Amino acid sequence: MKQFPVTRASVLKPKPDPSTLVFGQSFTDHMFLMDYTAGQGWHDGRIVPYGPIALDPSAMVFHYAQEVFEGLKAYRNPEGGVQLFRPMENVRRINSSCDRMCIPQLPEEEALAAIEQLVRLEADWVPDQPGTSLYIRPFIIATTPSLGVHASHDYIFAIITCPVGAYYAEGINPVKIYVEDEDVRAVRGGTGYTKCGGNYAASIRAGERAEQNGYAQVLWLDGVHRRYIEEVGSMNVMFQIGDTVVTPELTGSVLPGITRKSCIELMHSWGLKVEERLLSAQELFDAGESGALKEAWGTGTAAVISPIGEMAWEDRHVVVNGGKIGPLAQRLYDALTGIQWGTQPDPFGWVVRL
Ligand SMILES: *Cc1c(COP(=O)(O)O)cnc(C)c1O
Repeated sequence: MKQFPVTRASVLKPKPDPSTLVFGQSFTDHMFLMDYTAGQGWHDGRIVPYGPIALDPSAMVFHYAQEVFEGLKAYRNPEGGVQLFRPMENVRRINSSCDRMCIPQLPEEEALAAIEQLVRLEADWVPDQPGTSLYIRPFIIATTPSLGVHASHDYIFAIITCPVGAYYAEGINPVKIYVEDEDVRAVRGGTGYTKCGGNYAASIRAGERAEQNGYAQVLWLDGVHRRYIEEVGSMNVMFQIGDTVVTPELTGSVLPGITRKSCIELMHSWGLKVEERLLSAQELFDAGESGALKEAWGTGTAAVISPIGEMAWEDRHVVVNGGKIGPLAQRLYDALTGIQWGTQPDPFGWVVRL
């Protein structure tokens, strides 16, 4: 596998206490950088001390948001080793995002090698308390200094990492959400299926409003009909209705989550019925009111499974499973976290040990 040159930090930072960590505020000693130059392609992959990147104020990313990113984690297993969960899925997805954003494709084996080499170098930063991990944030930015609206000729691919505390330090408490019927996150033909910063910029207002109104997240509706459920906050969403699990199909405005995909594969292996289809807010709240809705949860790398305890839409209000985590959400959480942290066997070959 490709080895990149390393410039080591002269002074290493003290490791923070994982029990008081705030997500995404404390970074490790090193980062990975690679440049893209038109005519030359991706070149000069290297690991250097973590620190600021100097950019021209006219760099295209600042103006037209030509940018994509990823998020995955490294986990400390019971043997004391470090492992990744399906990292090639993240590499493929960043290339799918690049395709939509006119960013040149990364060489996949090199991008994976970069993640692995950086995490190996920072292995001491992977915490070992239950539920903790090292979050890995690969991203690509457009750096050509030009205000012309075109695809950039130059890019930086960077990877930074940060230790994160246990998401459920106080136990798994289901969240309250409401259906957002003003703002939309994504539309057909847009960038909803990519991980690009612009999607997040457009979603911040609804998230802030939800918080002000006492809700943890919003349930996004599709931007065309304003009728079908798409995601919850920045997670995919699943509902157990009767004996079937229903999750929004990947229409182009839904992000193809790796946790979503893994949940679907697990549930198929358990013989459960899973439907990927359109699900209207009307059908969902009818199922909630009739008692057919048994469980609801979000899926994503950060929380793994985030149970939904209450949902509101206009003047309708539904409590799910008495406001508690249900048996299926708990089973998915236990199965996925068991594989990710290596406390359970890995029958699907999802784990990459470093
Ligand atoms: C990253 C992301 C998800 C979850 O994807 P995972 O691969 O499971 O972490 C879901 N929705 C949005 C909008 C996202 O950005």
